[in-house]
Amino acid sequence: MTSAPVGPVNSSSAASAARTILTRLHEVMASRQNAQAKLNTVVEVIGESLHSEVCSIYLLREGMLELFATRGLAQEAVHVTRMAIGEGLVGSIAARNETLNLAEAAAHPDFSYRPETGEDRFHSFAGVPIVRRERSVGILCVQHVDPRRYEEIEIEALQTVAMVLSELIANAELVDEEEAFGLAASLTGPEQLRGLTLVKGLAAGAAVYHQPRITIEHIVAEDTEAERQRVYMAFDKMRDQIDRMASQAEFGGGGEHDEVLETYRMFAYDEGWSRRINEAIDSGLTAEAAIERVQQRTRMRMRQIDDPLLADRMHDLEDLSNRLLRIVSGQLGTAASMGLRHDAILIARNLGPAELLEYDKRRLKGVILEEGSLTAHVIIVARAMGIPVLGRVKSLRGLVREGDPLLLDADQGIAFVRPTRDMVIAFDERHAKTRERQAAYAALRDMQPVTACGERITVMVNAGLREDMPNVSLTGADGVGLFRTEFQFLVSATLPSRERQTRLYRDVMDTAGDKPVVFRTVDIGGDKSLPYLRHDEDHNEENPAMGWRALRVALERDGLLKVQARALLEASAGRTLHVMFPMISEPWEFDAAKAVFDGQLTWLRGQRKQLPEAVKFGAMLEVPALAEMLDVLCPKLTFLSVGTNDLTQFLFAADRSNPKLAERYDWLSPAILRFLRRVSRTCQQHGTLLTVCGEMGGRQLEALALLGLGIRRLSITPAAVGPIKSMLRQVHLHEIEEEMNRLLDEPAQDLRARLLDWAQARGITFD
Ligand code: PEP
Ligand code: MG
Repeated sequence: MTSAPVGPVNSSSAASAARTILTRLHEVMASRQNAQAKLNTVVEVIGESLHSEVCSIYLLREGMLELFATRGLAQEAVHVTRMAIGEGLVGSIAARNETLNLAEAAAHPDFSYRPETGEDRFHSFAGVPIVRRERSVGILCVQHVDPRRYEEIEIEALQTVAMVLSELIANAELVDEEEAFGLAASLTGPEQLRGLTLVKGLAAGAAVYHQPRITIEHIVAEDTEAERQRVYMAFDKMRDQIDRMASQAEFGGGGEHDEVLETYRMFAYDEGWSRRINEAIDSGLTAEAAIERVQQRTRMRMRQIDDPLLADRMHDLEDLSNRLLRIVSGQLGTAASMGLRHDAILIARNLGPAELLEYDKRRLKGVILEEGSLTAHVIIVARAMGIPVLGRVKSLRGLVREGDPLLLDADQGIAFVRPTRDMVIAFDERHAKTRERQAAYAALRDMQPVTACGERITVMVNAGLREDMPNVSLTGADGVGLFRTEFQFLVSATLPSRERQTRLYRDVMDTAGDKPVVFRTVDIGGDKSLPYLRHDEDHNEENPAMGWRALRVALERDGLLKVQARALLEASAGRTLHVMFPMISEPWEFDAAKAVFDGQLTWLRGQRKQLPEAVKFGAMLEVPALAEMLDVLCPKLTFLSVGTNDLTQFLFAADRSNPKLAERYDWLSPAILRFLRRVSRTCQQHGTLLTVCGEMGGRQLEALALLGLGIRRLSITPAAVGPIKSMLRQVHLHEIEEEMNRLLDEPAQDLRARLLDWAQARGITFD
């Protein structure tokens, strides 16, 4: 065999050294030798190429790292020398999944001398893990008589070879994968994740990554030039995608858009990254293997970084790397498109509402996000679907692996990864208790929402899809106080036709029977983006929540509103239509939207079609400016509905999708409550019905405060109906009204704590 010496440090010679080794390994792998003979040849090839007296391969067998092949150590030690994980240099590489490069091996604290190998002559030592599915299944190491550290390029060559070896080992079934995984799991052990409760509930299932990891079929390239072209094209496509996302500013359905996208962009255009991938291709790897190879190195470096901010950025690079892998390998789908095969807890950095809706609801049991905030639309959708969500979990993707068993206790804001038996038992007990409580709430279904002082409160549910409608009868709600019509648009690949809209609205009203359904006209834009409306110049927005959304879109594209108006009017033939407009900022916008409905009514009348019995118009109060104009607006309305999700984001100038602001402001703040008290008083003066339909109304203490402001109509998430009914049955309205006035007239910062004390002193119990 000829040797290919590794020259002085420069990347092209590193590539050519690795390439020579790879070419020869390729021949070995393709040969008809048995696996053991192949490994024997491999250690010869590597040892010779790197001018190393010793080259050895250890593989995981029955939980131990066993010497499988060696050049330079005593052959009698093969299949005899065995090290535990964490034992000696070899064991510590496997335990940490990290490379070691030592000029003097014996000086390392983990060094453990094995006389049977005859290794005492050798001073230098370098070892790299052989990794499969992110876990060490073996070690490749070289040793040298001279005490010298191996050059970076030699280490790189070893790492590349280790990748190829992992394929050879898997193909030859030299390592029991099941065992490797079981072992690695016990190595990592159980973990407890802490986060922010976004949707309450308990769930158990296996971890499923929304963006699954890619399986790499081929590691050694047949044609380097072709691989280079594939990577070029993938980079182009990825950069294009990132640029488009940045211009639409709606990446991931919410989140720290600017910051994340800026980092993504920086990495996407980083010459260093693409150069390293190209070098790996030069060394003979396929495009996929080269991306993975560079990613592996980044991951290893990431572990050595203590700075959480930098670690976060490394996650971004990892994300991007996965994106590049998906493009190059053509494996583009999310876990939803592949279908869930068992009870699953979805793991993602963030999700858009449409992405969540793609999942099979029978199998999707919970969601854990690295980002997320209470009023992001994806969370509203999850709440409507009854899927618990834990958000803002730090380093989530570093701690959970695909398929790991998970117990999610969103009530307590925790999740257990790879739980112990004790954890499972404790969780099952809590789960049983929660189910009991839910059953108790379900029993309140036929009980009227009446306060302790005898006043009937209107409790309706929020909905958005046909599938949500059974919740009306299941909870005994008074109807649907907010039907988010845009959900139909979100789950469709194309703009829903008028016929499809009419069918949905009719079905929804049919299911509600004689209970009212308040349809909100489409509120698209913000964190509810529609792919088929996106390719529009006007859509490049920096602040989509305050941008071209909701009624602003509908009025400008009046075709959209006209079609919807027709669909709603036709679907309500012979019954009462309740319709409201989102994001009204000035009264004229209400007039303009109503005029579209009036126009359609006139047309239908002309066609002698059956008309609705009555049309009741309402407006949503979400933009604070409108509160100043209620004297003008109220006389035109039947009802006003406060969307506290948007209202609070505008009152506090705090993006509702930004996870950094998720816990910053409290709904029970004097500013919000005083604002709502003023609105409530104005509506009373004008005889306008007032509803609160934001998430705030579905929380017990918040709802208590709203009662104290004179609000008597709530439209809330279905799961909250039981808890809200049980709360209001304990309340005397004049008492809470008095208390709220007292608290708001001289507001204290800890209004939440004061209100809670007040309620508890009266024996009002909360969940
Ligand atoms: C709101 O803003 O409070 C609201 C109910 O509307 P959405 O959450 O759909 O924006
Ligand atoms: Mg809103």
